[in-house]
Amino acid sequence: MLIGVPKEIKNHEYRVGLTPESVAELVQDGQSVVMETQAGAGIGASDEEYIAAGATIAQTAKEIFDTAEMIIKVKEPQANERAMLREGQILYTFLHLAPDAPQTKDLIESGSVCIAYETVTDDRGFLPLLRPMSQVAGRLSIQVGAKALQKDGGGRGVLLGGVPGTAPAKVVIIGGGDVGFNAAQMAVGMQADVTILDRSNTRMEELSYYFGNKAKIVRSTPAVLDELLTTADLVVGAVLIPGASAPKLVTREHLSTMLDGAVLVDVAIDQGGCFESSRATTHDDPTYIVDGVVHYCVANMPGAVARTSTYALNAATLVHAKRLARLGWKEALASDPHLLNGLNVCEGKLTIEAVAEAQGLDW
Ligand code: NAD
Repeated sequence: MLIGVPKEIKNHEYRVGLTPESVAELVQDGQSVVMETQAGAGIGASDEEYIAAGATIAQTAKEIFDTAEMIIKVKEPQANERAMLREGQILYTFLHLAPDAPQTKDLIESGSVCIAYETVTDDRGFLPLLRPMSQVAGRLSIQVGAKALQKDGGGRGVLLGGVPGTAPAKVVIIGGGDVGFNAAQMAVGMQADVTILDRSNTRMEELSYYFGNKAKIVRSTPAVLDELLTTADLVVGAVLIPGASAPKLVTREHLSTMLDGAVLVDVAIDQGGCFESSRATTHDDPTYIVDGVVHYCVANMPGAVARTSTYALNAATLVHAKRLARLGWKEALASDPHLLNGLNVCEGKLTIEAVAEAQGLDW
């Protein structure tokens, strides 16, 4: 099969659909890969590296969309990319269709076969292609939070781990799922004083078992949060209620009870955010201050570490890419119910109920 990888064109997106190593594996499998020139520039992978891995290089995205049987990307196709999709062509990428009616319409009209990374499942009930990005965002949340706590970041001038003779910073992580767990690992590693809030008994048991006395695991209630916020240096918002907007757990009124120069990192901003005062920001201008509290609310955090994110994503996506290329989409989907869950649009039809519901479309 001829697989095509265009350069990502969404604002500030530096990731790429395939690493040179993934290209080499696909070529070894008997597939052909065409990369758009400079597609890997954002992760430091040159055209020469892709050629050495067995790819050919196309000068334009159009050449790729015109010839490839499967397009592998990272972000949802932008309007001009959607216009180039062809009937029967496989599109394998993040789509996030629910809030995006124009994209849904274009994909249906294209007649292509669209498999969304974010809805592919696994045997344990996880979303294995989404998970690496939560891991990246969770780990990054402590890095960006630590920077924002510095005076030059607008924060109260506190070092996360402190030094002997001083108290470490208090880090409160709301939500102990993939993002929260990875944030806690980093915060504990930096010797901060870490508290994780969650509502799920099973999850609290798992966290408690893993962290032992290195982090406090506390049931999330409004009263507990009220109290923790008054002394917190860094608060990470990492809650998720699947399919719903994030609950506004930290209200505007809470801000006046917090320490001057405390930092809020709202990782859940892509679901609307879990702090009332959150508004989405960009990597260019990631923070703003409300009532003396620094807010960091970047919706695509993994983009900041494009190289790590691309490698982490490929580690999860490549196995299905190989099967799709080897078997063709019909057989690959028919033989794997988890990959089938990733099918969002198929040859002119919407195939995912949640998106139909979100957009009020007939099902
Ligand atoms: P997850 O499902 O693994 O974890 C969410 C956790 O929140 C669960 O353990 C759940 O029990 C807990 N929770 C729900 N309600 C709660 C409450 N009221 N108080 C405390 N805990 C509560 O989800 P995840 O993968 O960790 O993702 C978390 C959020 O981060 C999602 O909104 C996700 O989309 C977002 N995310 C953002 C970025 C970014 O770049 N900004 C990147 C990756 C993920």
